[in-house]
Amino acid sequence: MSVDPNTPVLRNCIRLPLPEDELIEVTAKAKDYAIMHGAAMRSKSNFSEDSLNFAPFVLVPSSFPRKEFEKAVALQPIINRLMHNVAHDEEFITTTLAETIKVDEFTANLFNIYRKVLAHGFTQANSIGLLRSDYLGHVYEGCAIKQVEINTVASSFGGIATHLVQLQNFVLRELGHADKLPNMPHNNALAGLCDGMVKAWDIYAKPQSVILFIIEDVSYNICDQRFHEFYIRENYPHIKVLRRTLTEVHREGKLGLNKELLLSGGLEVAVIYFRAGYEPGHYHSQDEWDARYLMETSLAIKCPSIQYHLAGTKKVQQALAQPAVLERFINDPEEMKAVGKIFTGLYSLDDNEAGNATYEMALRTPEKFVLKPQREGGGNNVYGVDIPDALKRMSRVERSAWILMDLIHPPLTKGYMVRPGAEMPPTIVDMVSELGIFGVVIGDADQIIHNYQAGHMLRTKLSTANEGGVAAGLGALDSPYLIDSDDEDEN
Ligand code: ADP
Ligand code: MG
Repeated sequence: MSVDPNTPVLRNCIRLPLPEDELIEVTAKAKDYAIMHGAAMRSKSNFSEDSLNFAPFVLVPSSFPRKEFEKAVALQPIINRLMHNVAHDEEFITTTLAETIKVDEFTANLFNIYRKVLAHGFTQANSIGLLRSDYLGHVYEGCAIKQVEINTVASSFGGIATHLVQLQNFVLRELGHADKLPNMPHNNALAGLCDGMVKAWDIYAKPQSVILFIIEDVSYNICDQRFHEFYIRENYPHIKVLRRTLTEVHREGKLGLNKELLLSGGLEVAVIYFRAGYEPGHYHSQDEWDARYLMETSLAIKCPSIQYHLAGTKKVQQALAQPAVLERFINDPEEMKAVGKIFTGLYSLDDNEAGNATYEMALRTPEKFVLKPQREGGGNNVYGVDIPDALKRMSRVERSAWILMDLIHPPLTKGYMVRPGAEMPPTIVDMVSELGIFGVVIGDADQIIHNYQAGHMLRTKLSTANEGGVAAGLGALDSPYLIDSDDEDEN
């Protein structure tokens, strides 16, 4: 992706570049600090269950406008409630996804589970959402945050992000900039998310029951997951945490007399936390779909339940960006306005008049847009000039599996990205940062029992990369250094 040469650059936390010998020394220390504090992942190219690489990280925290950070934090409980209301609106989910499920097999499979559960009635009325709302600043609106997407399933990096603040604090202190630390907001993501799971466990109210993590066959992002598990085990030692793949649940899971989810040895599951199951590759055969359905019909409290999973689809996000639709879920006019402002243009590609107009618009000015399918996990979108070819390859009906979104233009920051195996010392690069705000919401169709914001994460990528998935290998972990517009320039 090319970057407009006029893109504003946010002022840095400290003056760069660092003298080379200081840079080499602090980078080496920071790498070891990262590994020793679990800011780490399993290597994809050199996989071993017995070792870790540090996760890619940004050496000095990237700047983020304080006002916009605080806005995102304040909005999270409203977004939590919005998503909870959306998840419980059967009519809305059904009509919004009607065209999409005709052509998107994966979403159709999820929707079929939803339909079957609806037909039999929900065994468990409560859901827990561990959400993450992602934002980029938009330079054409004074760096105001715009929502990239909202994640309702496997919202990751709460664990590592919490520890990354300590890593960057360490680096700043080593560099003699302890005075900067107050501008790095404290991050309670790990505690907030895990306490949420424990609150759900409390609602289930059976002392012997366990929390089940649904995992991929191979977990590269193991530290982030283990941080959640170990936090629960250390702070709530009476609650056992199990890890199983969908395939394993199919093999050993069954329902008890009251539809309790039972694993081998008769262990009863109170809460299911999905860190897998959000992409087609996690379902090798009908077995895994059967396992998902089994869990969905069980008494366990799901994170997410199937209706929450569907509420997190890009298609639902696109529908919500229409003011008339948002009105249905948010009563307060001030809240409505505040949420409306974080949405950028999102357009339907359904097989109808509006969808055809979107199609024509995308062909005319593709450089203004991103084309997105109903997928999670990065690497699925089509950007700018590649859009016309992609669209032309689809039939009119096939297009309804996708949505079109305005491209957001984030401000640049300059800094050092540190990656395993990369040349030392790192060089200064142009980067952009995406802020994620975590939220926890627990309740049923009638009421919300818990609703709070729970920490944040920052992911930073090269300004020239379309996407910056850390797990996918393109981004780096970071945390925000909050700047005010009237701060003195450090550059
Ligand atoms: P996924 O579910 O795969 O994470 P996202 O919608 O988050 O899908 O898109 C992946 C990445 O693509 C984002 O993290 C961001 O870097 C980039 N991206 C997505 N939408 C936009 C947009 N509207 N403008 C600019 N970049 C975007
Ligand atoms: Mg994303």
